[in-house]
Amino acid sequence: MRRFRADWVWTPDGPVRGGEITVGDDGRIAKVRASHTTGAEALEHRGLLLPGLVNAHCHLELSDLRGRIPGGQGLSSWAQALLARRRAPQDEAMRQALEQAWEAGTAAIVDVTNTGASMPLLAEGPVGGVAQVELLGIEPDRCEAARAHAARLLLAPGLPAVETCHAVVSCAEDLLARVLAPPVDPRPAVTFHCDEDPADTRLLREEDGPWADFLDRLGRQWRGRMGRADSPVRLLEGLGALGPHLALVHCVHTGPRDLDRLAATGTAVVLCPRSNLHIGGVLPDAAAMVRRGIPLAIGTDSLASVDDLDLLQEAAVLASAFPAIDPGAWVQALTTGGARLLEPTVGARSDGASRGGLAPGASHGLLLVELPRTEEPARTLLDGTRWPRRWLCPPTRD
Ligand SMILES: [Zn+2]
Repeated sequence: MRRFRADWVWTPDGPVRGGEITVGDDGRIAKVRASHTTGAEALEHRGLLLPGLVNAHCHLELSDLRGRIPGGQGLSSWAQALLARRRAPQDEAMRQALEQAWEAGTAAIVDVTNTGASMPLLAEGPVGGVAQVELLGIEPDRCEAARAHAARLLLAPGLPAVETCHAVVSCAEDLLARVLAPPVDPRPAVTFHCDEDPADTRLLREEDGPWADFLDRLGRQWRGRMGRADSPVRLLEGLGALGPHLALVHCVHTGPRDLDRLAATGTAVVLCPRSNLHIGGVLPDAAAMVRRGIPLAIGTDSLASVDDLDLLQEAAVLASAFPAIDPGAWVQALTTGGARLLEPTVGARSDGASRGGLAPGASHGLLLVELPRTEEPARTLLDGTRWPRRWLCPPTRD
């Protein structure tokens, strides 16, 4: 058993001044006390104790494209530039990205993969996570080939993995229906790109716009195979795919009535604000999501659209853009909000505290962020400063 004290401790219920954390010999959080245990020996620290952070959306296999894909022209232009530069995943770039993510305090990554190349790196640790094996497919033969490829990757040992689809603009409606359906057996949440660009809705409503041109240029036989709906969320609703098993990534252009649908069904949202600013110059209405109680997590997206995998910098963008929202909401999204997506469940998800909070039994380790004296630890944490941080205890593997 080891004890740690600090100016502030971040618990699932928010910050506690002068708290004390006991870590068991197995590396899991054993006890959380609101005040010091009199007389017991403990290491005293200046700053804030946090659980390791969860990156709820990344594509490690794009790590070699850092700084190489210009943005600002919307998603279809960005995707075109990406396809032109994309090559086989580079192990060294992925290892470096993981090392930097670790140093920035990341305990786990929800990593989207098309090739499976990132899976052995995550399986060997110390950063763990879940692989989202992502399918793209429009014509029936391509859909079957994608599913067979995914089925092989899902057998890879050492890392939890789920199958998912890329987006409504790259997958046939019946593929979405089959892959995004609520699960029968317990599994981690499935993440799915949604409303990253207004052109997504245009394709579903009118069958034209930048995505129609893009798919035509690629020679895809997409007419009559894609979903038709007033919005991506309405399409997913019609397919019976909304629910606590699903986390929608981005939701930059999701309107108020669709946000109501997400709240009513317990569908989570993963925010990637720096990537959204790079690609389209627009942020999602994260305040409206907080007000509705939509479960939130935060991801960096890949190094093809952000400069680093530092989750505190990601959340700092939200804290700055939405000053009326208690910044504690973003800290919860970085910790328990992301951790709940990792829990294998059917139906209602846990609150994530038992894995990714400073709560008894939790396994995401103990991170010290060296903040100066503050009365508002969440606000100071997310003020944009790159505060020094270090692991006091590493995460343990479940
Ligand atoms: Zn993505």
